[in-house]
Amino acid sequence: MTVMSSLDLREDWRALLGRRPALAETLAVYEGILDRWADSSAPVVQVGWTAEQCRERWARRVPLLAEMPVPFSPEEVEALLGLALGLLASVGAAEEAALQRFAEAWDRGGIGPAALLPAQGRVGSLEPEIGLERNAVAFLACVSLRPGLDGLFSDCRVQLVDGVWDLGVCPFCGGPPGFADIIEDGRRRLACHLCGGGWVYPRLRCPFCGNDRATDLARLQPEAQEEGYVISTCQQCRGYVKELDRRVRWNAGPALVEDWGSPHFDLIAHRQGYWRPSAPLIHFARPA
Ligand SMILES: [Zn+2]
Ligand SMILES: [Zn+2]
Repeated sequence: MTVMSSLDLREDWRALLGRRPALAETLAVYEGILDRWADSSAPVVQVGWTAEQCRERWARRVPLLAEMPVPFSPEEVEALLGLALGLLASVGAAEEAALQRFAEAWDRGGIGPAALLPAQGRVGSLEPEIGLERNAVAFLACVSLRPGLDGLFSDCRVQLVDGVWDLGVCPFCGGPPGFADIIEDGRRRLACHLCGGGWVYPRLRCPFCGNDRATDLARLQPEAQEEGYVISTCQQCRGYVKELDRRVRWNAGPALVEDWGSPHFDLIAHRQGYWRPSAPLIHFARPA
């Protein structure tokens, strides 16, 4: 079955820039991505799996994507990948030589979409010789794969019910959490930027290492005017995820918009020695 994908975050993005005008210039780099995503109208293939097929995998703690053939051809992701490579170069977020090596390997078929998919504990599985750091690979994967993965899983999102998935990675694509929302009933919902999936995960457990000792899980509070936002950290693995309490900020945007729109929180976490699997572009572009 095919549908037209639609991933238009531009209105939410404009609303966020309206709330954070001081960041508008810095964040302009994301505009091209959002325009291209909104315009992307390629037919996408849905998984087409039944509830039983999905839940059988989740019961084995396997994300759906892990047991599928690679869902895209190189040609299908090339245009967005080219845009992402250009952005990495333009903000100085990756070495020119590394980007060149990546582009050459892609052109001769040595790297394909499979190398950008989530792997155990990371996004992408590039040879270290390419020389692209983790954040850069995660960015390439997000920009180039999001519209396709978003569409791919659109028909099986409803199969995810409470209690069938308890890992800190996305049950659909296996990607790491990119943002966290505290929803109306007080539970925490983690968001995957790679496929747009979300899943409920305990508030007092680190999604990266599973640590649940309350004394290890500190919450950093950004400035007072940013009420509702915290940085949820883990002393054990030094991982962090930004978290938004939707009960306080009912007018906030989708998780990806909130994440890309709050690099100042990443800076706070980074300065205190915390890491995350996929930092926003302009954060890792900036010298520490
Ligand atoms: Zn996902
Ligand atoms: Zn941890």
